[in-house]
Amino acid sequence: MRVGVESLSDRHAKAMESFLEFTASRIAPYAGDWDNARRLPRDVISALGEAGHLGALVPAEYGGSGMDLIEFGLLNEAIGTGCSSVRSVVTVHSMVCRAVQRWGSREQRERWLPRLASGEWVGAFALSEPGAGNDAARIGTTARRDGEHYVLDGTKKWITYAQAADVFLVFGHDEGRFAAFLVERDTPGLTVVPIDDVLGTRASMLAELRFTGCRVPRTALLGRVGFGLSAVATDALEIGRYSVAWGSVGLAQACLEASVRYAGERRQFGAPLIKHQLIQRLITDMATSVSAARLLCVQAGELKSADHPDAVTAVWMAKYFASTAASRAASDAVQIQGANGCDPAGSAQRLFRDAKIAEIIEGSTQIQQTTIASLVSQAGAGED
Ligand SMILES: Cc1cc2nc3c(=O)[nH]c(=O)nc-3n(C[C@H](O)[C@H](O)[C@H](O)COP(=O)(O)OP(=O)(O)OC[C@H]3O[C@@H](n4cnc5c(N)ncnc54)[C@H](O)[C@@H]3O)c2cc1C
Repeated sequence: MRVGVESLSDRHAKAMESFLEFTASRIAPYAGDWDNARRLPRDVISALGEAGHLGALVPAEYGGSGMDLIEFGLLNEAIGTGCSSVRSVVTVHSMVCRAVQRWGSREQRERWLPRLASGEWVGAFALSEPGAGNDAARIGTTARRDGEHYVLDGTKKWITYAQAADVFLVFGHDEGRFAAFLVERDTPGLTVVPIDDVLGTRASMLAELRFTGCRVPRTALLGRVGFGLSAVATDALEIGRYSVAWGSVGLAQACLEASVRYAGERRQFGAPLIKHQLIQRLITDMATSVSAARLLCVQAGELKSADHPDAVTAVWMAKYFASTAASRAASDAVQIQGANGCDPAGSAQRLFRDAKIAEIIEGSTQIQQTTIASLVSQAGAGED
């Protein structure tokens, strides 16, 4: 049962059905193996490309699927039920597609978007650094102009899918003027150092990117110098936040389904677990919060599609609620399964680890708690 999607249009309902089928056949059965192997095989990326899922936000004229935001959200929910590592790749790749579409010149769109939409090339989003996380304005990577080139120096850390991505959206600055660049993987001066064994989304193939005198042509600059953080990164991060919110709904839905199944089968003290009231309470809270999270995501998608002034706040709220709900749901899913929930062969422990990541990326829980209060109080002040 998926409460919160009853009002979907026929087109969206059909799209969701096909996303769930794709997840059930191409993703969910293998998620545990990928997590253990700490990598995603290229064929799942190719399958995503062939299905049009990597071109979700790319307009049809550039070979994309041109999904609207609700459809894109549903795609993230469906994939999130199966594997958060795959969903993470869709998230960062879509952020790069969005940035090129929104800020790229015609030449840049024509060069990048068809390749990104087909999955021939996969994009990664490189903002974080060893010394700069939530406080992105602290990034130390420099991008100095040298004639027809820019020279990048610095280190990016925790970059999803950087072990295999073909192009990186990299943020740097020149004396405090931030800029964004599209840097191809084989550019001299760029070294990719894998980061393995992260707590969650273990198959998402994180890496560190080291730039040492890395020269990129002027045509690699995306948007204008000075607008790298305030426009390019901010806009892409909002899409990322929206994607993670929906992905968290999917993860929580997977916890709910696993919990209901297990509690119906497992018997203790003469009855199935589901007959014990304290287990019923955990499942009630889980089911209610999954539905509430999904409704907040639908609201965020509708407001964002309408360019409504409250859209920014709605996306923050959706991500805050959905990621914390997913964390709670995953913790309770492990609890309901007891020792079996800790079994490396089961999915509950993976969901538990993956859910924690959703509370850290795209604005950590504490940053959401302070940001939403400030957005709401600004809006309140504006009404006086
Ligand atoms: C699996 C994974 C994948 C990632 N993928 C990418 C990627 O693809 N691209 C990329 O650029 N980055 C990526 N990141 C990095 C991620 O974006 C950062 O981890 C995130 O921005 C948080 O930064 P931080 O970890 O440095 O935490 P910090 O900003 O150092 O925060 C540490 C803690 O302090 C809290 N805190 C910070 N400031 C405040 C405050 N003002 N008030 C109250 N509490 C505060 C935070 O909530 C957090 O709990 C990834 C991280 C992980 C774990």
